[in-house]
Amino acid sequence: MSDTTVYLDNAATTRISDNVLEAMLPWLRESYGNASSIYALGRRSAIALNKARSLCAEVLGCESREIFFTSGGTESDNTAVYSAARAARAAGKRHIITSAFEHHAILKPLEALEREGFNVTYLPVYENGIVRTEDLKAALTDDTALVTIMAANNEIGTIQPIDEIGTLCRERGIPFHTDAVQAFGNMRINVREQNIDMLSLSGHKLHAMKGVGLLYVKGAAPFFPLISGGSQQSGKRAGTENIAGIVGLAEAVRDAAEHLPDKTAHLLPLRERLTEEISALPGARLNGDRRLRLPSNVNFSFAGQEGETLVLKLDLRGIAVSSGSACTSGSLDPSHVLTAIGCTHDEARSSIRISMSRYTTESDIDALIAALKEII
Ligand SMILES: *Cc1c(COP(=O)(O)O)cnc(C)c1O
Repeated sequence: MSDTTVYLDNAATTRISDNVLEAMLPWLRESYGNASSIYALGRRSAIALNKARSLCAEVLGCESREIFFTSGGTESDNTAVYSAARAARAAGKRHIITSAFEHHAILKPLEALEREGFNVTYLPVYENGIVRTEDLKAALTDDTALVTIMAANNEIGTIQPIDEIGTLCRERGIPFHTDAVQAFGNMRINVREQNIDMLSLSGHKLHAMKGVGLLYVKGAAPFFPLISGGSQQSGKRAGTENIAGIVGLAEAVRDAAEHLPDKTAHLLPLRERLTEEISALPGARLNGDRRLRLPSNVNFSFAGQEGETLVLKLDLRGIAVSSGSACTSGSLDPSHVLTAIGCTHDEARSSIRISMSRYTTESDIDALIAALKEII
């Protein structure tokens, strides 16, 4: 195996930043107390947990009691969907609206709910990879119990009109959940200003560790836990809290908000360069809107090429990118995201995603472009 020297798959996962690791270490070494224990070692963990929660709340624009720590983006998404579904049942409602290209952590629970009698509307995302608020407006009914639309897509990075969606849902009194796993740290997110009722984040997409995430649930929204057991986190999410992971997540959340302006300024020119230089390669075509996308993402199809082969050839040169999304690669089905924006199966299979972080350098981009020129 060759070593990866150029890492351009930050939408799959990110490295833990040094300060996040430093913040975590004491909670793995000496301060290992259970946050529910009443003696000093336990109380110290409880204090760290509360501090982490209030830091996340401050950055997201909500109250501490509206933040629940989870095992990651998948659990947060599942909890939001199933909680809203239970509230819907209690209110006699059975309609949910989403988009055709959500992450499977949203789509799979929705498919399960359809089998239990829910009606799910999958809004189209068109060739540019963006839902239209007119379509949402037309789909809303008195039976609608949840709108769940991601803030930015994980494969093609396109940004959804969550401000307008939030306003529309708030006017109609319908809960709005957004999967902001990819968006957070790459664009402005404030749940109060954007009228968001539930929001999912994942640590490992933000330079914190894998296996930790958070779910924000607006205080007024009904909340039914997915995981039950002990009375941790107000009884809303049972299980002994992962203090080190949570402290690291809070540090990463603070960092992400703090670095947003400089990261954006750093990545936008790199994204523009990638877009121009890769577009000039034979058979190359950008997937998703050219500008309404995260500064960190480009996704290209290459006519007549196989995405997986390109990934392996780049790997031989020490460069990591992905084809499809990391969660589904290995399966033969073309990406549901790319088919949702109208790609044929061949176009979808010929795609690669390049995703940057604030640690990406100009020379990483030089290396990738040189390698792609050679391979294609
Ligand atoms: C990675 C990802 C998830 C899943 O998060 P995990 O922490 O890996 O479970 C959910 N939604 C989106 C958009 C993602 O990119």
